[in-house]
Amino acid sequence: MHILYVDMSGNIGNPGERHIIMAGVAVYETAIFHVIEELNRVVARNLPDHDAPEVELHGNAIHAGRRFWRSIPRDRRKSLLQQSLAVLKGPSRRSLRAFGMVVDKALVSPEDPVEHAFEHICSRFNIFLKRRYQATGEKQRGLLVFDEDKYESTLQTLARDFRTDGTRWGNLRNLAEVPLFVDSRATRLIQLADLIAYALFRRYERNDLSLITPVIECFDQQGGVVHGLYHKTDAPCDCAACASRKYFG
Ligand SMILES: [Zn+2]
Repeated sequence: MHILYVDMSGNIGNPGERHIIMAGVAVYETAIFHVIEELNRVVARNLPDHDAPEVELHGNAIHAGRRFWRSIPRDRRKSLLQQSLAVLKGPSRRSLRAFGMVVDKALVSPEDPVEHAFEHICSRFNIFLKRRYQATGEKQRGLLVFDEDKYESTLQTLARDFRTDGTRWGNLRNLAEVPLFVDSRATRLIQLADLIAYALFRRYERNDLSLITPVIECFDQQGGVVHGLYHKTDAPCDCAACASRKYFG
Protein backbone atom coordinates (compact mmCIF):
# COMPACT_ATOMS: atom_id res chain seq x y z
CA MET A 1 0.00 0.00 0.00
CA HIS A 2 1.08 3.58 -0.73
CA ILE A 3 0.21 6.04 2.00
CA LEU A 4 -0.16 9.74 1.21
CA TYR A 5 0.55 11.88 4.28
CA VAL A 6 -0.99 15.32 3.81
CA ASP A 7 -0.56 18.66 5.53
CA MET A 8 -1.31 22.29 4.75
CA SER A 9 0.30 25.69 4.88
CA GLY A 10 -1.29 29.13 4.63
CA ASN A 11 -4.14 30.72 6.51
CA ILE A 12 -7.50 30.45 4.82
CA GLY A 13 -8.98 33.51 6.55
CA ASN A 14 -5.96 35.80 6.20
CA PRO A 15 -6.51 38.27 3.32
CA GLY A 16 -2.80 39.16 3.53
CA GLU A 17 -1.94 35.73 2.12
CA ARG A 18 -2.80 34.84 -1.44
CA HIS A 19 -2.41 31.07 -1.41
CA ILE A 20 -3.28 28.01 0.53
CA ILE A 21 -1.09 25.00 0.03
CA MET A 22 -1.88 21.33 0.49
CA ALA A 23 1.17 19.12 0.23
CA GLY A 24 1.70 15.43 0.55
CA VAL A 25 4.34 12.77 0.63
CA ALA A 26 3.47 9.33 -0.70
CA VAL A 27 5.39 6.53 0.99
CA TYR A 28 5.39 2.85 0.18
CA GLU A 29 4.49 0.98 3.35
CA THR A 30 7.74 -0.93 3.70
CA ALA A 31 9.75 2.32 3.56
CA ILE A 32 7.96 4.16 6.38
CA PHE A 33 10.31 2.94 9.09
CA HIS A 34 13.41 3.88 7.07
CA VAL A 35 12.13 7.38 6.27
CA ILE A 36 11.40 8.00 9.96
CA GLU A 37 14.91 6.82 10.83
CA GLU A 38 16.44 9.08 8.17
CA LEU A 39 14.55 12.10 9.53
CA ASN A 40 15.57 11.25 13.09
CA ARG A 41 19.21 11.07 11.99
CA VAL A 42 18.93 14.55 10.43
CA VAL A 43 17.53 15.89 13.71
CA ALA A 44 20.22 14.13 15.77
CA ARG A 45 22.97 15.51 13.53
CA ASN A 46 21.72 19.09 13.85
CA LEU A 47 20.58 18.96 17.49
CA PRO A 48 23.00 16.58 19.22
CA ASP A 49 21.89 17.74 22.67
CA HIS A 50 18.27 16.72 22.17
CA ASP A 51 16.36 13.44 22.02
CA ALA A 52 15.76 13.35 18.25
CA PRO A 53 12.49 11.36 18.14
CA GLU A 54 10.94 13.87 20.55
CA VAL A 55 11.70 16.90 18.38
CA GLU A 56 8.75 17.92 16.19
CA LEU A 57 9.44 19.29 12.73
CA HIS A 58 7.16 22.17 11.75
CA GLY A 59 8.38 24.38 8.91
CA ASN A 60 6.93 27.67 10.10
CA ALA A 61 8.14 27.34 13.70
CA ILE A 62 11.63 26.22 12.63
CA HIS A 63 12.00 29.02 10.09
CA ALA A 64 10.76 31.72 12.46
CA GLY A 65 12.65 30.37 15.48
CA ARG A 66 9.55 30.12 17.65
CA ARG A 67 8.99 28.21 20.90
CA PHE A 68 11.41 25.25 21.10
CA TRP A 69 13.43 26.69 18.20
CA ARG A 70 14.08 30.07 19.82
CA SER A 71 17.45 28.99 21.22
CA ILE A 72 18.65 27.28 18.03
CA PRO A 73 20.86 29.44 15.77
CA ARG A 74 19.33 30.51 12.46
CA ASP A 75 21.92 28.71 10.30
CA ARG A 76 21.30 25.47 12.17
CA ARG A 77 17.53 25.81 11.69
CA LYS A 78 17.94 26.48 7.97
CA SER A 79 20.22 23.48 7.44
CA LEU A 80 17.83 21.29 9.42
CA LEU A 81 14.98 22.32 7.08
CA GLN A 82 17.09 21.67 3.97
CA GLN A 83 18.45 18.34 5.18
CA SER A 84 15.01 17.13 6.28
CA LEU A 85 13.57 17.90 2.84
CA ALA A 86 16.59 16.22 1.24
CA VAL A 87 15.36 12.90 2.68
CA LEU A 88 13.02 12.98 -0.35
CA LYS A 89 16.04 12.30 -2.55
CA GLY A 90 17.97 10.16 -0.07
CA PRO A 91 18.24 6.36 0.23
CA SER A 92 14.42 5.93 0.32
CA ARG A 93 13.76 8.10 -2.75
CA ARG A 94 12.32 5.25 -4.85
CA SER A 95 9.60 4.76 -2.24
CA LEU A 96 8.78 8.46 -1.89
CA ARG A 97 6.89 10.97 -4.06
CA ALA A 98 6.06 14.58 -3.24
CA PHE A 99 2.77 16.27 -4.10
CA GLY A 100 1.91 19.95 -3.83
CA MET A 101 -1.34 21.80 -4.57
CA VAL A 102 -0.93 25.58 -4.63
CA VAL A 103 -4.24 27.45 -4.86
CA ASP A 104 -4.78 31.19 -5.28
CA LYS A 105 -7.75 31.52 -2.93
CA ALA A 106 -9.40 34.36 -4.90
CA LEU A 107 -9.55 32.33 -8.10
CA VAL A 108 -11.69 29.47 -6.81
CA SER A 109 -14.21 31.58 -4.86
CA PRO A 110 -16.95 30.77 -3.94
CA GLU A 111 -15.58 27.22 -3.85
CA ASP A 112 -13.68 26.40 -0.66
CA PRO A 113 -9.95 26.47 -1.59
CA VAL A 114 -9.28 23.55 0.76
CA GLU A 115 -11.89 21.52 -1.09
CA HIS A 116 -10.34 22.53 -4.42
CA ALA A 117 -6.88 21.42 -3.22
CA PHE A 118 -8.28 18.19 -1.77
CA GLU A 119 -9.93 17.30 -5.08
CA HIS A 120 -6.67 17.81 -6.94
CA ILE A 121 -4.43 15.97 -4.51
CA CYS A 122 -6.81 12.97 -4.59
CA SER A 123 -6.89 12.81 -8.37
CA ARG A 124 -3.12 13.27 -8.70
CA PHE A 125 -2.39 10.59 -6.11
CA ASN A 126 -4.76 8.39 -8.08
CA ILE A 127 -2.81 9.08 -11.32
CA PHE A 128 0.35 8.01 -9.48
CA LEU A 129 -1.26 4.76 -8.25
CA LYS A 130 -2.62 3.94 -11.72
CA ARG A 131 0.80 4.46 -13.28
CA ARG A 132 2.43 2.22 -10.68
CA TYR A 133 -0.16 -0.44 -11.42
CA GLN A 134 0.51 -0.19 -15.18
CA ALA A 135 4.28 -0.35 -14.61
CA THR A 136 4.39 -3.23 -12.15
CA GLY A 137 1.11 -5.09 -12.74
CA GLU A 138 0.77 -5.07 -9.00
CA LYS A 139 -2.42 -3.56 -7.67
CA GLN A 140 -1.55 -1.25 -4.78
CA ARG A 141 -4.12 0.69 -2.84
CA GLY A 142 -3.67 4.23 -1.61
CA LEU A 143 -4.54 5.63 1.77
CA LEU A 144 -4.81 9.33 2.67
CA VAL A 145 -3.62 10.43 6.12
CA PHE A 146 -4.24 13.98 7.37
CA ASP A 147 -3.17 16.03 10.37
CA GLU A 148 -6.28 16.12 12.54
CA ASP A 149 -5.63 19.69 13.70
CA LYS A 150 -5.59 21.37 10.30
CA TYR A 151 -8.91 22.54 8.83
CA GLU A 152 -10.48 19.68 10.65
CA SER A 153 -14.14 20.52 10.01
CA THR A 154 -13.69 21.13 6.27
CA LEU A 155 -11.62 18.01 5.83
CA GLN A 156 -13.90 15.86 7.99
CA THR A 157 -16.84 16.88 5.78
CA LEU A 158 -14.84 16.18 2.65
CA ALA A 159 -13.77 12.84 4.06
CA ARG A 160 -17.41 11.91 4.67
CA ASP A 161 -18.44 13.00 1.16
CA PHE A 162 -15.44 11.15 -0.21
CA ARG A 163 -16.73 7.96 1.40
CA THR A 164 -20.33 8.32 0.27
CA ASP A 165 -19.68 9.77 -3.18
CA GLY A 166 -16.10 9.09 -4.26
CA THR A 167 -17.10 9.53 -7.90
CA ARG A 168 -17.27 13.27 -7.27
CA TRP A 169 -13.47 13.21 -7.51
CA GLY A 170 -13.37 11.12 -10.64
CA ASN A 171 -12.58 7.47 -10.62
CA LEU A 172 -10.85 6.94 -7.31
CA ARG A 173 -11.08 3.18 -7.17
CA ASN A 174 -7.44 2.95 -6.18
CA LEU A 175 -8.00 4.81 -2.94
CA ALA A 176 -9.04 3.22 0.31
CA GLU A 177 -12.48 4.31 1.38
CA VAL A 178 -11.76 6.52 4.35
CA PRO A 179 -9.02 9.10 4.86
CA LEU A 180 -7.45 8.86 8.31
CA PHE A 181 -6.86 11.73 10.71
CA VAL A 182 -3.87 11.47 13.02
CA ASP A 183 -1.98 13.57 15.54
CA SER A 184 0.95 15.11 13.66
CA ARG A 185 3.06 15.14 16.84
CA ALA A 186 3.19 11.36 16.59
CA THR A 187 3.80 11.15 12.87
CA ARG A 188 7.12 12.08 11.29
CA LEU A 189 5.65 11.58 7.82
CA ILE A 190 2.94 14.21 8.41
CA GLN A 191 5.75 16.47 9.58
CA LEU A 192 7.60 15.82 6.30
CA ALA A 193 4.39 16.78 4.44
CA ASP A 194 4.30 19.95 6.56
CA LEU A 195 7.88 20.77 5.52
CA ILE A 196 6.98 20.33 1.83
CA ALA A 197 3.92 22.55 2.30
CA TYR A 198 6.07 25.16 4.03
CA ALA A 199 8.75 25.04 1.29
CA LEU A 200 5.99 25.65 -1.27
CA PHE A 201 4.56 28.46 0.88
CA ARG A 202 7.97 30.16 0.88
CA ARG A 203 8.19 29.76 -2.90
CA TYR A 204 4.72 30.94 -3.89
CA GLU A 205 3.87 33.36 -1.07
CA ARG A 206 7.28 34.86 -0.31
CA ASN A 207 9.16 34.28 -3.60
CA ASP A 208 11.88 32.39 -1.70
CA LEU A 209 12.93 29.40 -3.82
CA SER A 210 15.73 28.21 -1.55
CA LEU A 211 13.88 25.33 0.13
CA ILE A 212 11.86 23.96 -2.77
CA THR A 213 14.33 24.15 -5.68
CA PRO A 214 16.68 21.40 -4.41
CA VAL A 215 13.78 18.92 -4.17
CA ILE A 216 11.64 19.97 -7.16
CA GLU A 217 12.61 16.75 -8.99
CA CYS A 218 10.95 14.75 -6.18
CA PHE A 219 7.42 15.78 -7.18
CA ASP A 220 5.59 13.06 -9.04
CA GLN A 221 6.29 13.30 -12.75
CA GLN A 222 6.43 11.25 -15.90
CA GLY A 223 7.89 12.15 -19.28
CA GLY A 224 8.34 15.78 -18.30
CA VAL A 225 4.78 16.22 -17.02
CA VAL A 226 4.79 17.17 -13.35
CA HIS A 227 1.56 15.54 -12.19
CA GLY A 228 2.47 15.99 -8.55
CA LEU A 229 2.55 19.78 -8.58
CA TYR A 230 -0.51 21.94 -9.27
CA HIS A 231 -0.61 25.73 -9.33
CA LYS A 232 -3.98 27.45 -9.67
CA THR A 233 -3.14 30.93 -10.94
CA ASP A 234 -4.20 33.47 -13.57
CA ALA A 235 -0.78 35.14 -13.66
CA PRO A 236 2.07 34.30 -16.03
CA CYS A 237 4.24 31.84 -14.14
CA ASP A 238 7.29 29.76 -14.91
CA CYS A 239 7.10 27.36 -11.97
CA ALA A 240 7.51 23.63 -12.67
CA ALA A 241 3.73 23.05 -12.58
CA CYS A 242 2.84 25.89 -14.97
CA ALA A 243 5.78 25.19 -17.32
CA SER A 244 4.77 21.54 -17.53
CA ARG A 245 1.14 22.48 -18.29
CA LYS A 246 2.20 24.97 -20.94
CA TYR A 247 4.26 22.41 -22.85
CA PHE A 248 2.21 19.28 -22.31
CA GLY A 249 -1.33 20.66 -21.99
ZN1 LIG B 1 3.03 28.38 -11.52
